[in-house]
Amino acid sequence: MNKNNTQAVTISKASANKFAHQVLAWYQEQGRKTLPWQQNKTPYRVWISEIMLQQTQVATVIPYYQRFMASFPTIAALASADEDKVLHHWTGLGYYARARNLHKAAKQIVELHQGKFPQTLNETIDLPGIGRSTAGAILSLSLNKHHAILDGNVKRVLARCYTIEGHNAQAKFEQQLWPIADALTPKEGVAQYNQAMMDLGAMVCTRSKPDCDNCPLSSGCLAKAGDLQSAFPQKKPKKQTPVKNTIMVIPRVNNKVLMEKRPPSGIWGGLWCFYEITAATQLNDFLTSQGLKAVEQFSLPAFRHTFSHFHLDIETIVVDCRQLKVEEVNEKTPQQWYDLSKQSSVGLAASTQKLISLL
Ligand code: SF4
Repeated sequence: MNKNNTQAVTISKASANKFAHQVLAWYQEQGRKTLPWQQNKTPYRVWISEIMLQQTQVATVIPYYQRFMASFPTIAALASADEDKVLHHWTGLGYYARARNLHKAAKQIVELHQGKFPQTLNETIDLPGIGRSTAGAILSLSLNKHHAILDGNVKRVLARCYTIEGHNAQAKFEQQLWPIADALTPKEGVAQYNQAMMDLGAMVCTRSKPDCDNCPLSSGCLAKAGDLQSAFPQKKPKKQTPVKNTIMVIPRVNNKVLMEKRPPSGIWGGLWCFYEITAATQLNDFLTSQGLKAVEQFSLPAFRHTFSHFHLDIETIVVDCRQLKVEEVNEKTPQQWYDLSKQSSVGLAASTQKLISLL
């Protein structure tokens, strides 16, 4: 095992060649080659797939990807689209900052690069929502540019092969892995190699059950040799996840429900949500502020929504109302009466979507 995790790993040219050769040979046999974004590869198509895949499994991404590309087939189409429409295509995928950044980046590409996806690593990293690994993946997979990648799957494979200590939340862990990734990435066949490394991590060197018997790297893997697979990468120390509470209010009039659009940043940024109150005693004041009068009210079953850094326990009060004074959009807090009988093409927060399905 590498006892000193700040010491650089030395990789000879011969061992790098052998590593790349094993990976590429495996890719020919086992790698994924028929995914939608692997057809007619362009930086734009690969970019969208890489962003969708950042927090989401391939099988979930495919239908979202196909719908997204059908609606926004080009960078120009994405740049000129309404943010609401872009977020609508993301409804259910989560981590909505990804969609907002895609939209911003498309506008930036139109403004600064005449609508053509940049071809250098630095220009690509300058786009919102794109880090070094994603930039490397886009440019290598679509244009065969020689750049290493280091996404979560690749980190796991390399950390095991070279028994690199640390975990994904530590900068020093990544700092040690980049030179290894750079040294191993071949000049020839970089697109296939990078795709293969991602596939290996996702399909063979999985987090909890690495299939070492079917891994092309097993002969040189230090974790396999020491039976240390579960020790690499190390697990991030668990912190108690805080729990917050909220009450969502759903005023309903003629099968329409009142929603507000969240500010662009913060949780559910830019998405449509139900109004929140912190205590049931605030309900009447809230209804009055909206020009509404309750006829009847009832609760929906409480549920928990989990974000990356906290749990949100949500109670819901549905209020059937008979009086409606405010119907126009308020400039400061855009609001809408969402028609439950129609499919509206706006971006809904996951909690909003869940509550609509219960109504
Ligand atoms: S031999 Fe096992 S631990 Fe090592 S890279 Fe392959 S699957 Fe992962």
